[in-house]
Amino acid sequence: MEKRVIIAIDGPAGAGKSTVARDVARRLGFLYIDTGAMYRAVALWALRTGIAMDDPHRLEQLAQQAEIEFTAGRVLLNGEDVTESIREPQVSEAASKVAAYGGVRRAMREEQRRIASNHSSVMEGRDIGTVVFPEAQIKVFLDASPAERARRRAAELGLENSRAVAQEMEHRDRRDRTRVEAPLTQAPDAEYVDSSRMTQEEVTEAILRLVRKRTSH
Ligand code: C5P
Repeated sequence: MEKRVIIAIDGPAGAGKSTVARDVARRLGFLYIDTGAMYRAVALWALRTGIAMDDPHRLEQLAQQAEIEFTAGRVLLNGEDVTESIREPQVSEAASKVAAYGGVRRAMREEQRRIASNHSSVMEGRDIGTVVFPEAQIKVFLDASPAERARRRAAELGLENSRAVAQEMEHRDRRDRTRVEAPLTQAPDAEYVDSSRMTQEEVTEAILRLVRKRTSH
């Protein structure tokens, strides 16, 4: 039986992780797992049910009860398609708040390990190479300059001015980098890739080269 391969892609918001991770997974026939979508789904459920963002106990319960599925490129929360609603700005902000709690992270981490238990996967997030799969064969820390990350995110949202987006991202990144539980940080054995001046295709190719190098022996 072939050995399961895990490709961990971590980095800040707007570095291009999702597009590249999806592309690499498609090219290799691996599962693609967007762990940010899982935190977003829990945050959306908390916002809808009025659970306070400073109530770690109830947020942890929610994270344990949430049934999150990825099917055909869609994200389902308890059977409902929430692919678009989890991208709302207030959900981004709430996701980074719920993600700071150890109990919430524990529930997500178990689920992430379960999903990838029988499949070679490309998993993207903030703590995949450091905490979820420290044994991953390929680890990439994908970065880009703050201005470029804001420009890309604004373009995705169809906005001409990226200033508000830049502020929101900076705020969220600071929270993700400074939290006590599994902060965003580069794993010592991760390859640092600065995508500021690279096309998406170039980043995909760089990761595929790394995969060939690390899995050839
Ligand atoms: O990747 P995305 O921007 O969709 O993630 C939303 C939020 O979820 C992040 O700002 C971060 O707080 C949290 N997250 C995390 N750990 C992950 C993935 C996402 O803390 N592995």
